[in-house]
Amino acid sequence: MIEIQNVRKSFGSLEVLKGIDLTVEKGEVVTVIGGSGSGKSTLLTCINGLEPIDAGRIMVDGTEVHAKTTDLNKLRRKVGIVFQQWNAFPHLTVLENVMLAPRKVLGLSKEKAEEIAVKQLTHVGLGEKLSVYPTRMSGGQQQRMAIARALAMSPEYMLFDEVTSALDPQLVGEVLDTLRMLASEGMTMICVTHEMKFAREVSDRVAFFHKGVMAEIAPPDTLFGAPKDPELQKFLAATH
Ligand code: ADP
Ligand code: MG
Repeated sequence: MIEIQNVRKSFGSLEVLKGIDLTVEKGEVVTVIGGSGSGKSTLLTCINGLEPIDAGRIMVDGTEVHAKTTDLNKLRRKVGIVFQQWNAFPHLTVLENVMLAPRKVLGLSKEKAEEIAVKQLTHVGLGEKLSVYPTRMSGGQQQRMAIARALAMSPEYMLFDEVTSALDPQLVGEVLDTLRMLASEGMTMICVTHEMKFAREVSDRVAFFHKGVMAEIAPPDTLFGAPKDPELQKFLAATH
């Protein structure tokens, strides 16, 4: 499980995370909603050890992410992250792009890496696109490729940061379907999203961030049906 305990983080004089507490159990799907600049992305990059924290601690399966002795490469194999956009290597095919990390990071043979890449690309519905170059694919297909790339490392946790935000509206559905599939397979996920309908359907719990504070966290029916925090009420009124 992921345990976030009283985490604080500043950029210069700006405190972006003001004491965040959140435990995500194995198999749980937590979505994070909130306005721009509320600290959502920062939280994900801290969980993955991409950013240091100023106070508190983050534990992944009992390993303290920011401890000096922690092997961050090992941690990042366990905790996959997919961003709004991933720039694939344009001169490599989709298959070659997805094979790269299993080859380089896991040190797998070409055959084994290819087997895994084909499996994950097929899983996200790109089994027909193996030999295509990334720039020839739609934004939705490129995001599914990014998800397959993360899955090829056999992560136990997945962090998704607004993976549909850069997409044309008609391409959002196919990527959300991929996330729904992963959730239904029992993947432990933290998804930052603006897609409220998706959050309502897929989440075990929804967390609302406001100005660096997790102002409310509840199962979706409660959070959307009977929001308590005034800022959350405003936020939901504005997004409907
Ligand atoms: P969100 O994802 O909720 O939109 P972020 O976590 O990206 O918010 O950012 C929270 C705040 O931290 C914003 O004010 C943002 O400008 C600032 N911030 C984020 N990353 C950095 C950085 N690397 N350096 C300085 N300020 C940053
Ligand atoms: Mg963000």
